[in-house]
Amino acid sequence: MRCDVVIVGGGIIGSAAAYELASQGVDVTVFDDPLSLGKATRAATGLLVVGRGQRVRTEHAQLLQLSLALFEPWIRGLEKRAGKELGFRRGSVLRVARTERESTRLRLAVELAVSRGEEAEWFTAEQVREAEPLLAEVEQYGAARFEIEAVVEPERLLDALRRGCQTLGVRILPEFVKGLEPTGLGWRVYGEERKVETDKVVLAAGFASIPLAQSLGLSLPLIPVRGISIAAVVPLKAQFAFTYAGLQVVPRQGTKVVVGSTLEKHEGLPVIAPAKLAELKRQSQSFFPWMARRIAVEVRCGVRPGSAIGRPIVAKVPRYPGLSVAVGHYRSGVVLAPLTGQTIREILFSERLSGAGLVWRWPED
Ligand SMILES: Cc1cc2nc3c(=O)[nH]c(=O)nc-3n(C[C@H](O)[C@H](O)[C@H](O)COP(=O)(O)OP(=O)(O)OC[C@H]3O[C@@H](n4cnc5c(N)ncnc54)[C@H](O)[C@@H]3O)c2cc1C
Repeated sequence: MRCDVVIVGGGIIGSAAAYELASQGVDVTVFDDPLSLGKATRAATGLLVVGRGQRVRTEHAQLLQLSLALFEPWIRGLEKRAGKELGFRRGSVLRVARTERESTRLRLAVELAVSRGEEAEWFTAEQVREAEPLLAEVEQYGAARFEIEAVVEPERLLDALRRGCQTLGVRILPEFVKGLEPTGLGWRVYGEERKVETDKVVLAAGFASIPLAQSLGLSLPLIPVRGISIAAVVPLKAQFAFTYAGLQVVPRQGTKVVVGSTLEKHEGLPVIAPAKLAELKRQSQSFFPWMARRIAVEVRCGVRPGSAIGRPIVAKVPRYPGLSVAVGHYRSGVVLAPLTGQTIREILFSERLSGAGLVWRWPED
């Protein structure tokens, strides 16, 4: 079998890249390990946020903002193809201040955003209680809302992306990639059953890209960071998603919410550590009285592809013609998916880079 581009990994990043390439008529094959199928993506809570109310616009915050600006048209196109909505809601995230200090910082962030011409507002503690039933009994000092920030349901988004890919002719092979090798003219990718010849390969297998890169003598500066989130049915329907004391609460359909998430050193298998789960439960129950009356639906665990260089690694690999990587999105892979898809298409097939800031300059050695 032969195709233009093989993508290793069908999580949100590999799927976004495949969708973007196939939309432009590129012949794409995606290999996706059937045992982990979008592992980090399916555990994600689904907050599409820019930063934590910081006053300085870091390079990373600018990338997040750029991708968020692409999100709405991207998701509306996917919704049209899928014939259903994917839980995307702009302006629906409250950053709740737990302390007076936090409220000062967040109020300043709102003022700064407004002075830049962005839409943002400050809710007093009373307004928060009125607007969000799940925060009615929670101790807080008000909340900031930024219009650009949004929520989405990552699982439904991933399923819609994969279906969209298939509609556009992408072959999604449910196979673990054992290895890849340059052939002189291109690449040969070895799945468990099939092998595919291709001109270009994109390594987008999240933290599991590490051993594949190692097999080529490449070292990817990735730090796997495990995380747990809890899906629960709660007594009241949430109107907003919110962040509070490092926790995220994101509504799903009906009265279901996802509460997350832990940040754990990943030491091997992506299994749920009972002590970490107990800690997440204890913490969320101590803040949110309704968590004690929840019906737990599911506990999810994923491994975030953290980056040792503090930014995603989206790049062509020097000295390996035809090989690119799209990894290291850490806690923002869902937010950065549309920009990453677009950037991969541009670095593979065009000289013009609209998301130039996302492209990492791979150190030449
Ligand atoms: C608890 C938690 C909460 C999060 N919350 C948010 C959030 O609110 N907002 C946000 O933007 N981000 C969030 N994130 C981060 C986000 O989920 C990740 O950045 C993103 O999912 C990374 O996507 P990925 O495609 O790189 O990796 P993954 O989703 O892990 O996908 C990698 C894919 O590669 C496949 N694969 C691996 N090895 C191979 C192989 N050898 N051969 C073939 N296929 C292979 C796997 O099957 C998998 O499908 C969260 C993450 C976690 C864990």
